[in-house]
Amino acid sequence: MNIRVSDLNAYCFCPRGIYLSKVLKIKQGFSIPRSIGLISHSVRRELSIRQPILLEKMSCVNDINMILECELDNILSDALHMHRGMLDDVEYNIPFEKIRLELLSEIRIMRDKLTSMIEEIGLEEAIRHITPWMVEYPVKSDTLKLSGRIDKVMKDPGYVPVEIKTGSAPSCIWNGDRIQICAYILLLEDTLKLNKHIPFGFVEYTQIQQRRPVMATEGLRGEVIHKRDKIIEILEGFVPDACAHGSERKCMSCGYKEQCYE
Ligand code: SF4
Repeated sequence: MNIRVSDLNAYCFCPRGIYLSKVLKIKQGFSIPRSIGLISHSVRRELSIRQPILLEKMSCVNDINMILECELDNILSDALHMHRGMLDDVEYNIPFEKIRLELLSEIRIMRDKLTSMIEEIGLEEAIRHITPWMVEYPVKSDTLKLSGRIDKVMKDPGYVPVEIKTGSAPSCIWNGDRIQICAYILLLEDTLKLNKHIPFGFVEYTQIQQRRPVMATEGLRGEVIHKRDKIIEILEGFVPDACAHGSERKCMSCGYKEQCYE
């Protein structure tokens, strides 16, 4: 039995969510704001992954704004088309304009960061610097009993996993995100048969265009294994209590709240 790394993160949010989704197979409730959130997530993620290709299209630094905005419109149209079923009878133009407006301010931050990088190190070096070794890299280990798909793996010169987060950036890094990065580090070390430890990975917050490092300490590595074993216990029959974490705010924002309290 292999545990998905994203489930380690979900377990950190609430163990009972794992029971509801993985054991009872309950799906989160449908709502238009949730659907729009999922679509904006996929657009932000795609924009982040495509950055190196976009820089390659530039003939001079002044092109960057036009290229980014044009790509945003393309990705957004594709995403809305692909997820049409999630929006039911909502007017196509409403989510398009809403998501576009939100993302335009992020695009400006992206443009400023890329422009200053290009001015500092040159276009060629900037492309090299932001181009991942792999994107959406699948990793699996029967020894670790873990599997997942890493958003980006950078190589400069060592391997560095990057997890893209498209929600608002917290002041710190959520524990679930730390666990997720550290689990990817363990999986990369195992998959690539590295004979030394990967010291850190990054969480990339697209809304502020910032990467924050997560150190893979011995303590965090142990926590990954501990959380994996706790999930296995749930899959084998343990039922976590409702709101055991004691946070009403979590329950209010949770997509399982109706079914959970029933
Ligand atoms: S409603 Fe609360 S206790 Fe239930 S799954 Fe969601 S966060 Fe967990």
